[in-house]
Amino acid sequence: MNISEKRALVWFRRDLRIEDHAPLYHALKNHQQVIAVFVFDTDILTSLPNNDRRLTFIYDTVVALKLQIEALGGQLIVLHDRAVFAIPELAKRLAVSYVYAAQDYEPAAIVRDQQIATILAQQNQPLKLVKDQVIFEKDEVLSQKGTPLTVFTPYKNAWLKKLNAFYMQAYPVEQYQHHWWASELQQLMPTLDSMGFVPQTLKVTAGMDGAAATWQDFQKRMAGYKQYRDFPAVKGVSYLSVHLRFGTISIRRLVSEAFMHADEGSATWLSELVWREFYMQFLWHHPNVAHEAFKAEWRQQPWGNRQDWFDAWCDGQTGYPIIDAAMRQLNQTGFMHNRLRMIVAAFLIKDLDINWQWGEAYFAQQLLDFDLSANNGGWQWASSTGCDAAQPFRIFNPILQSRKFDSDGKFIRKYVPELAMLDQEQIHAPWEMTVMARQMSGLVLGKDYPFPLVDHDLARKKALEKYALIKQSYS
Ligand code: FAD
Repeated sequence: MNISEKRALVWFRRDLRIEDHAPLYHALKNHQQVIAVFVFDTDILTSLPNNDRRLTFIYDTVVALKLQIEALGGQLIVLHDRAVFAIPELAKRLAVSYVYAAQDYEPAAIVRDQQIATILAQQNQPLKLVKDQVIFEKDEVLSQKGTPLTVFTPYKNAWLKKLNAFYMQAYPVEQYQHHWWASELQQLMPTLDSMGFVPQTLKVTAGMDGAAATWQDFQKRMAGYKQYRDFPAVKGVSYLSVHLRFGTISIRRLVSEAFMHADEGSATWLSELVWREFYMQFLWHHPNVAHEAFKAEWRQQPWGNRQDWFDAWCDGQTGYPIIDAAMRQLNQTGFMHNRLRMIVAAFLIKDLDINWQWGEAYFAQQLLDFDLSANNGGWQWASSTGCDAAQPFRIFNPILQSRKFDSDGKFIRKYVPELAMLDQEQIHAPWEMTVMARQMSGLVLGKDYPFPLVDHDLARKKALEKYALIKQSYS
């Protein structure tokens, strides 16, 4: 193989854009012929159901990316294969001198990248992994003692202290667009159907265009973020998570904009972006959390694990309207509002006494924005087993949460239409209605809508007893 020093391959993964893209910038700046690849990796795809919504999002995004790159005179080769072999093979065929990609912090991705880096090194075509999806990675934010931070607030303070214009600066990819290159390789893009997936109808627009429109819409609302972010029936949050997950928008762009606005809303939103990095780097430092509780004392706890209760939770049939509305939102759209993620997670773990890892796995299947680090962090937070400064007895009362954050029942009515006729007093706990009120509404509990699976006060008591016992036996 005659390696061409002027040629490089950029491997797109969860960074599906061409603006402000660090690996692409380095490749275009340092090489005269740059070509790109995306792999629908069979090592990942084989375990997914054929109606997985994410595939439609990724597919639509890759199609748009391919067209954008072609318009610049370049080429995006799209493969359906095992990345671990396909990338070194392609690098060989194209005789590139380097392969560039964005650093990934998930355990499985790290193993895959190491395997590929080894093969590429043997071919004398090094893999260059570049920080792109975060502002600070790995050991860039540590405690004063130089150790990884396991509690959010000190991490956030250290993160903010380190932040400056340099880290927020965009990579000016456009300066080197003339280095895009198209090879002789003729390649037909695989279809979703040929890969065994059925296209799904999405509630979000994929690609850089979808990201830009979502961002533009949120910029107008950012100042009100702190005030409105907890109410699922209100458009208070950014809805950017799926775009951050697949990199259709640059984190530097979002952080610099949030940083520039000196209001409470933007500062609170910036904090959420720091949570994202906190969990990513936490997973990088402690990869074991992907399969066990971070806090050792919670690893062996006994669980009730009733399958029928778990099924009812997944299906939005627990008899608690706010829980059911949230789960139905997830099942129907692939999204769930953050406040609701906290409420349903706490309910599954503390009220139904079901292992948090069951819930984590269900979210992983359903969420369009599924991200191992954020999802695991969220579930370990809700189960009090993770990196958290608070006492482990955080129990949410689903009825009070419902009254507080969906006071007029608007969100519940949207996803639990069988309760739509109830007024804002009745809708949060229909079993508390008098017989007469129930008769007047026409609602038949147990037929039109289930009785609650558990009594929250009783379940709370049991959870507290269980946690006290575990604490006692560990101390
Ligand atoms: P905004 O409120 O607008 O926040 C902006 C961005 O900050 C988000 O897009 C996200 O990237 C990041 N962010 C916000 N909150 C968190 C958080 N607590 N942890 C990490 N990052 C955060 N987020 C995911 O992206 N993927 C997941 O798989 C995921 N699973 C979760 C599971 C549980 C049990 C919980 C409690 C939270 C989970 N989150 C997850 C975090 C949060 O719920 C979502 O990021 C948020 O609801 C997405 O909506 P948004 O983009 O409008 O967020």
